[in-house]
Amino acid sequence: MEKLMHRLSQNNIRAFKARDRQEAREIALSLIPPGALVGMGNSLTLRETGIYDSLVTGGYSLINQFETGISPGENLRRRKQGMLADVYFTGANAITMSGELVNIDGKGNRTAAMMFGPDRVVVVAGRNKIVEDVEKAWDRLREYTAPALAKKLGRATPCARSGVCTDCNSPERICRCYTVIRGQMPADRDRITVILVDEDFGI
Ligand code: SF4
Repeated sequence: MEKLMHRLSQNNIRAFKARDRQEAREIALSLIPPGALVGMGNSLTLRETGIYDSLVTGGYSLINQFETGISPGENLRRRKQGMLADVYFTGANAITMSGELVNIDGKGNRTAAMMFGPDRVVVVAGRNKIVEDVEKAWDRLREYTAPALAKKLGRATPCARSGVCTDCNSPERICRCYTVIRGQMPADRDRITVILVDEDFGI
């Protein structure tokens, strides 16, 4: 993890290491300035670390598109609003040992916000998300992450049934946007913070 933290720093991405979910949650919440408007992307890691619950119940100015009972239109409005939040929380699908953040997304609001918009982006990732390089990241995402996620979400895709990606054209296809963040501009140094947790989280 030390080597990866160094590579992230070379890419102008700040990195912290956390022993466990509790320390990860403490670091994550400490990165929210007083009064900040907080957005978030969909992430099993945020839920499993308890960060999601802390954001919902902690008295933050949270843009929560996951609130039950809101209309599809309100959900979309909040996703857009999240892209201009002061701080944006998300997980990562894979992080390479060269310090690159590799992600897939359906609509793309999460991956877009990671690249541009929010003043700060906080990425929380378990050790299981670390891969050797971008090629291995795509292998992991195509062969494991996307099929497992489609199954968990109950999507009507071939991979949800078989566990194998067929590069489908299903209306419920979940992997439509693919991004690699190789780093930030020097002027944007530390805009993205990655919290690497020494536990496994998410898919
Ligand atoms: S392209 Fe289709 S089959 Fe392949 S992982 Fe994505 S949703 Fe599943």
